[in-house]
Amino acid sequence: VAAVTGTLSGAPGRFARGLRELAPGTWAWLQPDGGLGEANAGLVCGDGASLLVDTLWDRRLARDMLDAMEPHTRGAPIRTVVNTHSDGDHWWGNAEAPADAEIVTSEASARAMRRDVSPRELALLQRLLAVAARLPGTAGAGPRRSRDAFAPFDFGGVRQRRPDRTFSGTTTLDAGGREVRLVEVGPAHSAGDAVVHVPDARVVFAADVLWVGVAPIMWAGPVDNWLRAIDTLLELDAEIYVPGHGDVGTRADVERVGAYWRWLTVRAREQHAAGRGRMDAARAILADDGYARWADWAEAERIVANVDALYRGFGGRDPVGARGPARLAIMRDIAALGAERASPRASA
Ligand SMILES: [Zn+2]
Repeated sequence: VAAVTGTLSGAPGRFARGLRELAPGTWAWLQPDGGLGEANAGLVCGDGASLLVDTLWDRRLARDMLDAMEPHTRGAPIRTVVNTHSDGDHWWGNAEAPADAEIVTSEASARAMRRDVSPRELALLQRLLAVAARLPGTAGAGPRRSRDAFAPFDFGGVRQRRPDRTFSGTTTLDAGGREVRLVEVGPAHSAGDAVVHVPDARVVFAADVLWVGVAPIMWAGPVDNWLRAIDTLLELDAEIYVPGHGDVGTRADVERVGAYWRWLTVRAREQHAAGRGRMDAARAILADDGYARWADWAEAERIVANVDALYRGFGGRDPVGARGPARLAIMRDIAALGAERASPRASA
C-alpha cells in the first residue's frame, strides 16, 4: 500500500496521516486535516486481542487503516469494535472489521444510526452537488465547496453493519486483559456521544466532543451537556486526548473547546435577542474581536450550525437536534459562508 501522507484530497496535511503510537500497545489513526469525514480512530492491543475505536467513512479508508494496523493485530486480532457515535464517518467502515468482532455503541447512538442518512442518500447528494456546482458565480460557490469536500469519499459500496451490543451510561470492556472504559457524554455533538478511556495508557479517545485545530460542530446539543462532557474529559485520569477530528491533543485543547462554547453561548444569546438569523449572527460573531482566540481553527464557518443549535436551545426546541433536511440546509449554509469567507470580495 502506498503511503498517503497528506489530506485525502492530496493537499499537504497539517499533521501526519496514519498510525501514531501514543503508549505501549495504544495507537491513534489520524486523518489530516480533520475536516469533513477526515475522522480519527484508535487501536488498543492487549494479550491476544485488540479493540478498535471507530471505522471511518467508506470501505477503502477502513481497509487502508486495517492493513496498516495488521502488524499489530496479527497476534492480537480485533475482537471488539467501539463506535463512538452515529455519524457515518465513525462507523460506515464496520463491515470491513473482522466478522467475529463484537461492535459496541451507546443505545442513543444505535437509535440515531437507524434514522440517519444512508450511504445511498449521500451518494445521491454527491451527484446533486456536482450539478449545483455548475451554477455560475456565488450561487455555485457553496455547492462547489461541498462537492470538493465530499469528493474523496466513495459511499457506493458501503454496507451498513450495525452494532451488536449497546450500553447506557458507562461500561467496561476488555482488550486482551487491558481495561477500556466507555463513558456516554451525549447528547452533545450527536445524540449518543461516548468517549473511550484507556486508563493504563492515560489516553482518551474523545470522539467528536473534542476537535483540535478545527472548529467543533454541534448537531445535537444542548450546550450544557457538551460543557459537562468537557468536565468529564478533564476528570478522567489521562494526559493524551485523541480528538474525533484533528491532531492529538492535551488537556489544554479540551479546555479550549470548553472556552469556545462558553463564549459562543453568550454571543449567540445576544444575536438571538437582536432577532438575527443564523447566517447574520454567524458573520457578526466571527467578526467579533473575541473570536481571535480560536482564529487558528480551520472551518470556522461551522459556527452556523452551532448558532442554530444554540438558538434551538434558547427556544427550548427539539432536543434531538438537526437531522434530515434541516441538517442538509445547515450544511448548505456552512458551505455558503465558507465560500464567502474564502473570497469576501466576490460576494460583497
Ligand atoms: Zn466526525
